[in-house]
Amino acid sequence: MSHVSPAELEAAIRNVPDFPQPGIQFKDITPVLSDPRLFRGAIDLLVAGFPAGSVDKIIGIDARGFIFAAAAAVQLGAGFIPVRKKGKLPWNTHEQSYDLEYGSATVAVHTDAVKPGERVLLLDDLLATGGTAAAAIELLNRLEANIIGAGFLIELEALEGRRRLTGVPIFSLVRY
Ligand code: AMP
Repeated sequence: MSHVSPAELEAAIRNVPDFPQPGIQFKDITPVLSDPRLFRGAIDLLVAGFPAGSVDKIIGIDARGFIFAAAAAVQLGAGFIPVRKKGKLPWNTHEQSYDLEYGSATVAVHTDAVKPGERVLLLDDLLATGGTAAAAIELLNRLEANIIGAGFLIELEALEGRRRLTGVPIFSLVRY
């Protein structure tokens, strides 16, 4: 364990006003990723509640979620599953549309990504309105996954995203 505190992560996260459009304060996680101790510590904190062997697949959401989910999957000895933006996955997919804090999008997952009953953990960089995570959870429900949790590096609490994710244990490291 690298013993990084959530406060250290918060101090490293860069607030970028008016990106990608006016009125949005973008939470830039690249300073966390570029610091080996903070990156390792963020992964340790994200998987802290999950002993090795307790998770079959870690689901990452396109694109920043991939970074955390892939590293966490290696750490826990789990598989990695990408939930991608529509049109990127080459095989048969399920698709789900959703609204973003800015804009709208459709996400997709391979129909054979998760077997019924497999224990899956969803990870993403940031929970805002919860639309993205809700769409991913809908896809996982169609695959009959056993969703044991959904974790986020950052949660924007005022947007109440977790209210859209009922029935799934939600956790986050840094809350604004
Ligand atoms: P939402 O669907 O509203 O919960 O939005 C979550 C997704 O949009 C995450 O995958 C984030 O990467 C991205 N996102 C939304 N708002 C922000 C923000 N203020 N800063 C950085 N990323 C954001």
